[in-house]
Amino acid sequence: MNFQEFKNISDKFPHTLPMPVLFVGHGSPMNAIEENSFTKEWSRLRFLLPKPNAILCISAHWLTRGTFVTAMEKPKTIHDFYGFPKALENVQYAAPGSPDLADLVIGTSKTLIGKDETEWGLDHGSWSVLKHIYPDADVPVVELSIDYTKDMQWHYDFAKELSALRKKGVLIVGSGNIVHNLDMVSWSMKNGGFDWALEANSILMGLIKKNDAKALVGYQKLDASVQYAVPTPDHYIPMLYAMALRNDNENIAFFNDQTVMGSIAMTSFVLGST
Ligand code: ZN
Repeated sequence: MNFQEFKNISDKFPHTLPMPVLFVGHGSPMNAIEENSFTKEWSRLRFLLPKPNAILCISAHWLTRGTFVTAMEKPKTIHDFYGFPKALENVQYAAPGSPDLADLVIGTSKTLIGKDETEWGLDHGSWSVLKHIYPDADVPVVELSIDYTKDMQWHYDFAKELSALRKKGVLIVGSGNIVHNLDMVSWSMKNGGFDWALEANSILMGLIKKNDAKALVGYQKLDASVQYAVPTPDHYIPMLYAMALRNDNENIAFFNDQTVMGSIAMTSFVLGST
């Protein structure tokens, strides 16, 4: 994209005050159709956040070799799970895409980003949460994939390249879970967590609060409880994207900081003023 092409795209997104950045612990796909204490907080965000021009979502559920953005006009609702009720399989979240935002992301970043015009769409990491925040599906949504071949420092540095989007009315949303160990899930512990899960949640929240990027990026050197909490980095990385976009001294507000099913923390936060 040459300078003039980038300018033309950039001009389509009016300059704004820096948008807040959101990290959401999405938990079970059932949250898409349930009304519970977590989804209630998601619904409140609609009134707390300035209405964005568009949303860029980094979902734990789109893992690729290389980095891609969705660039279709009408992203399909992807039901990327099995064994859940029909009511969940039937959910459609018809938010439009934004090929313009896809181009803006590609032009803003120094990193090579591929354009996905046909394959992906919105996976449940995006729609199960956005359905509660923007039930009218009236805000365009673009997903950014996670390159699973890269290390944590790479993701943190790459995410920083996206910070200019905050001043273009783009709400950047990371959707994952900072404590997420599916092998250890206990269905009998609906609202509760194992000791190690509570401890890891508290350690990670402390580091997030302190903005200790070095420790968060190097999480594999942290306490054993964190290793149980993050057995694979897919649900952790979206939090790193949000943290990388944090300006110095920017406010952080946690919500839904509870552990469910033994081994999943719903911990979420908003960075920046709301
Ligand atoms: Zn998930």
